[in-house]
Amino acid sequence: MVFDSHMDTPTELLRGRDIFIDGSAQQVDLPKLRRGEVGAAFFALYCSAQLSPNEATAHALEMAGAVERIIRESKGEFASAYSPSDFYINQAKGKISLFLGMENASPIQESLDLLEAFHKIGVRYVTLTHNGDNSVADSAAEGSRWGGLSPFGKKVVKRMNELGMMIDLSHASDRTFWDCIELSEAPVVATHSCCRALCPHRRNLTDDMLRALKEKDAYVGINFYPYFLVEDPLKTPPGVKEIVDHIDHAVRLAGVEHVGIGSDYDGIEITPEGMENVGCLPKVFEEMRRRGYSEEQISLISGENLLAVMDRIISCSK
Ligand SMILES: [Zn+2]
Repeated sequence: MVFDSHMDTPTELLRGRDIFIDGSAQQVDLPKLRRGEVGAAFFALYCSAQLSPNEATAHALEMAGAVERIIRESKGEFASAYSPSDFYINQAKGKISLFLGMENASPIQESLDLLEAFHKIGVRYVTLTHNGDNSVADSAAEGSRWGGLSPFGKKVVKRMNELGMMIDLSHASDRTFWDCIELSEAPVVATHSCCRALCPHRRNLTDDMLRALKEKDAYVGINFYPYFLVEDPLKTPPGVKEIVDHIDHAVRLAGVEHVGIGSDYDGIEITPEGMENVGCLPKVFEEMRRRGYSEEQISLISGENLLAVMDRIISCSK
């Protein structure tokens, strides 16, 4: 079973994706999710930093509605999920659990009540920024507005702790990352990030960050985007081997209980060789087996670690 912490499929749903057919150009659809043995996925409500606050709020709501629509149309193939226990109920019925994440906090504008509302409709993590500083925090792509979390962002972190929502630090600036490590009472997550020691992208995690994730009993989902896997993917295109290199490195620094899969499918315009869509996921676990990972360790990384960190974050809220 795979529980992937980040796919951008809601954006594609609004563009007319037929999720039920095995489309040749589609990175994610139902037949491929089944081939990839995906039992659960976080579908990200992604808002570009270019949208105005009101546009972002409306766009996020529309994507949440599109996910609801495909769940209804799926006749029981998909089911919504808000907690690990929902996942286990859905899994027993053979259904794929769809969790909602929000990528870019811009839809909450400057309102903790909007955050509450998005939690109420099922959003279980918020990636604090995308490629632009916002009212909550600085982004890895800019990083100059607040010097980390904004004063409002500090309140957001506190409220997310109270609600048991996951604070997602993928895309965050280094200072935002460290502010959240310090301020959050619950573990944090980086739902789709890679290792800076292997590829020097500003959005990848340093070794110190990976060690901090271990210390914080947190989680990182390894991203499949070629530009995060290797420095020059057009010259040396990465494949499954490079994905597992990042898994190996993260496991060494953060520990085998804090690493997972955050493929970023539907959010990446190019894919690693041989990993063109979500149906290819089993190749990652084959490569891990070849490198000596036990079946137990593969189960942790393919999904159980994400369920476990959700549980820990929810239990901190009580
Ligand atoms: Zn992203």
